Amino acid sequence: MKKAVFPGSFDPFTVGHQSIVQRALGLFDHIVIAIGDNLEKKSFFDIEIRKNWLNEIYKDNPRVSVDAFSQLTVDYCNEIDAKFILRGLRTSADFEFERQIGQMNKNLQSNIETVFLLTDAAHTYISSSIVREIIKFKADISKFVPKIIADDVKKMF
Ligand code: ADP
Repeated sequence: MKKAVFPGSFDPFTVGHQSIVQRALGLFDHIVIAIGDNLEKKSFFDIEIRKNWLNEIYKDNPRVSVDAFSQLTVDYCNEIDAKFILRGLRTSADFEFERQIGQMNKNLQSNIETVFLLTDAAHTYISSSIVREIIKFKADISKFVPKIIADDVKKMF
């Protein structure tokens, strides 16, 4: 079984992330969306809230599961026996960042491959950080995130 880990902060999960998962379902049997619980990076949304949203979004898809992890990504992959790391590429800036992480991960764990999907052109400008900015200014995020997240955020702010 081809299992891939899609690691990220997903703070919050966007339609760009959703599209990567959707397309990767054509390549892998199972995708684990794994929220990195990074102690050094203060998140905007609590990890439990981010996890609940993802569980809700993928509740009817048995090929997608949701988890949180706080160790090295390759160690987490080994723990759950996943041989692939899935990442999205938007821009050349993403590429430089991803190249370094991907090559380091390959060095740490040579049997795990990172697979990159180019973002749909329509999603290239969408990022969690821009969505957070829009939320801070109380503007509408419904075009950029799944409906359940937009609805909840409306109630929260
Ligand atoms: P991280 O904090 O690890 O960068 P993110 O949640 O920002 O986590 O992103 C997780 C993955 O999703 C990364 O590979 C990133 O390049 C990709 N990604 C982010 N935004 C988009 C988007 N709009 N379209 C496609 N992929 C995206």
